[in-house]
Amino acid sequence: MSGFDMKNDTHRRYNPLTGEWMLVSPHRGKRPWQGQQETPVSLNLPEYDETCYLCPGNSRAGGVQNPKYNGPFVFTNDFSAITPNISDGAVDDGLFQAKSEKGICRVICFSPYHNKTVPQLSSDEMFAVAKVWQREYVELGSKEFINHIQIFENKGAAMGCSNPHPHCQIWAQQSIPEIVSKENFRQKTYFEQHTKPLLQEYVEQELQRNERVIAENDSFVALVPFWATWPFEVMVLPKISKPSIAALNDVELRNFSDMYRIVTCKYDNLFKTSFPYSAGVHQAPTDGGNYDYWTMHMHFYPPLFRSATVKKFMVGYEMMAEPQRDITAEQGAAILKDLSAEHYLHK
Ligand SMILES: [Zn+2]
Ligand SMILES: [Zn+2]
Repeated sequence: MSGFDMKNDTHRRYNPLTGEWMLVSPHRGKRPWQGQQETPVSLNLPEYDETCYLCPGNSRAGGVQNPKYNGPFVFTNDFSAITPNISDGAVDDGLFQAKSEKGICRVICFSPYHNKTVPQLSSDEMFAVAKVWQREYVELGSKEFINHIQIFENKGAAMGCSNPHPHCQIWAQQSIPEIVSKENFRQKTYFEQHTKPLLQEYVEQELQRNERVIAENDSFVALVPFWATWPFEVMVLPKISKPSIAALNDVELRNFSDMYRIVTCKYDNLFKTSFPYSAGVHQAPTDGGNYDYWTMHMHFYPPLFRSATVKKFMVGYEMMAEPQRDITAEQGAAILKDLSAEHYLHK
C-alpha cells in the first residue's frame, strides 16, 4: 500500500532517451507563482547595427564582407571549432586515447534584421530558415567524412551567446557525439524490442495523457518531457516519426518551424523578456546506416526559473550527482500551455 504522489513527494524520474535518472522535489516549488508580474522588457535594438559583424554588408572579424542578404544567410564559421583539413591520426596508449576529428561549422543568420529573434519572425521568414537547415543537412550529410549534423541556437548572453544578431549554428562532424550516441542506443534498443520507434510511442502516450503538452499543430507537438530537468525545458516531436528534417515535406517543415516560433514566443511571454535558451535538433546520423528507428526532435533548455533575472543553476548537487528540479514537469507545462502564442511586443 503506497500513498506515493508525484505532485507532492520527492521522487526520481527516468529518461528513456538517455537511460539516466533525475531528481524532482515538488514541495520546493510550492511557493506562490509570481511569473506574471514582470515589467515588460524591450531591448530597443536597431534593425541594422553598423558594428555587428553579422549584419548585411558589414565586414566580419576575419575581414570577409557579408553580402547584402535579404533572407537567411549561411556562411562557414570564420573561427570553426572543427575543420575539414587536418591530418588523420590517433593516440592509442592504454589509458590515454585520442583521435583526430574533422568537420565543418556553419553560421546561419535567421534574417537580415539585427533585432528580430525567432519568436518575432513571420511564419514565412522562419520557414526559409528551416529550408536552409534541410538543404545543409542533406549537403553536409552527403560528404564522406560527415556522419553527424548538429543544428543549434544559443540565445542570450545568459547562454554565452556572443552576438545579439539572431543566428544559429551547424556543427557537422566525423563522429556521433556523446549525447546523440546515448539517444541513438536507446532508440535502437527500444525498436528492436517493440518494433516501433521509442519517440513515436512516447508522443502518442503524451497526446493521450495531455498533462504535459503545451502546443500542437498537424505534424508536431511541443511538450515538457516527463523527465525534464530545466524548469521550462521543452521538446518538439513529430506526430508521425521521421528520422530527420530531410524526410519532411514542405507542409511538415513549415509546421516544424512554426512550432519553434510558438515555443519561443511562449518563452518570451512568460517573463515579458527576450528569453534565453539553448535549443537544438537531434536527427539520425548521416553515415549511411539504416535509421528507421530514429525520430528527429528538438530540445529547448532555458535557464530562467522565477523571473527574467532568476536563473536555475545546474551546480553543486547537479554537478556532483544528478540533475534536480523543484516544480514538476506538469507544473511547468501548465504555465507554458496557458501563455499566448502571440508575442507580447506585437500586441
Ligand atoms: Zn546584426
Ligand atoms: Zn535528443
